[in-house]
Amino acid sequence: MEACNAYYYATRDPLGSRGDFTTAPEISQMFGELIGAALAAAWQAAGAPSDAVYVELGPGRGTLAADALRVLRSAGFTGDAHLVETSPMLRKAQAEAVQGARWHEAIADLPERPWLLVANEFLDALPIRQLAGGKERHVVVAGGGLAFDRDGEIDEESPAREAAAGDVARHLASHGGLALIVDYGHARTAPGDTLQAVRGHRYAPVLDRPGEQDLTSHVDFEAIGRSAVDAGAAVTPLVSQGEWLNRLGIGARAASLVDANPERAAELAAAVQRLTGKNGMGELFKVLAIHCPDWPQPAGFA
Ligand code: SAH
Repeated sequence: MEACNAYYYATRDPLGSRGDFTTAPEISQMFGELIGAALAAAWQAAGAPSDAVYVELGPGRGTLAADALRVLRSAGFTGDAHLVETSPMLRKAQAEAVQGARWHEAIADLPERPWLLVANEFLDALPIRQLAGGKERHVVVAGGGLAFDRDGEIDEESPAREAAAGDVARHLASHGGLALIVDYGHARTAPGDTLQAVRGHRYAPVLDRPGEQDLTSHVDFEAIGRSAVDAGAAVTPLVSQGEWLNRLGIGARAASLVDANPERAAELAAAVQRLTGKNGMGELFKVLAIHCPDWPQPAGFA
């Protein structure tokens, strides 16, 4: 999964209608703006530390960063943007969207300062292990193609995701800041096979075309929260993306955009539906914040 995704992201821009999948920031500017507003409010509540930096893990085309930073700048935030991105191709797109950004290969390379961190659909792309009937399942070459070596009730675990959450949390606990983690997944650890492949906006068999389709699985937010707490950070309750965006005022933001652009009313209403509705991303996608225990709980979680 790790090798396939490294190749996949290094060789294409997978986002948008002509790619394989569409993410929330690509649906509407409102998504990144509300994230920027939540980060700005948390930063101000912590006394607006001037050494804080914006950090994003897996920023895609840089759309979310551009929208969030516009709001952060208007709130007086002047910190640099630090992007963790391994794909040379996506780094190019990010350079066009975010002036003066700096790039890093890994979380461990980020500066030792307070972070205002965002990770949207990042953890789902990190590799998982599957256990079938309690034993690790492997991918083998069989009959000229790839196959799983065993079946049975599937459990999933992701040391890579837990390590990323732990690294972020350890940093926040000692240097300050907060992280907004947005992804699809479940609130409690539970058995089940959630590995999926997407190509051209359709599900595909997971072992087809290795490296040519997006491989992800649902994020186990219980495991992420546990590893953040073990590393010394505070975590918020998990809320659905729909509920979180509604609490942050997506309705008011949409109304003001409609006032300024009446011809876009239908498009904006559709975007709100897609981002918050049960049939869109509103319920499957969830938001968890990890924060320094000395920083107040960010907005939208209580
Ligand atoms: N956050 C963006 C893109 C999500 S796609 C959005 O919401 O539109 C996943 C992103 O994570 C891509 O930018 C991909 O290149 C990056 N990525 C995947 N695996 C990574 C890894 N191991 N290290 C750093 N970035 C990674």
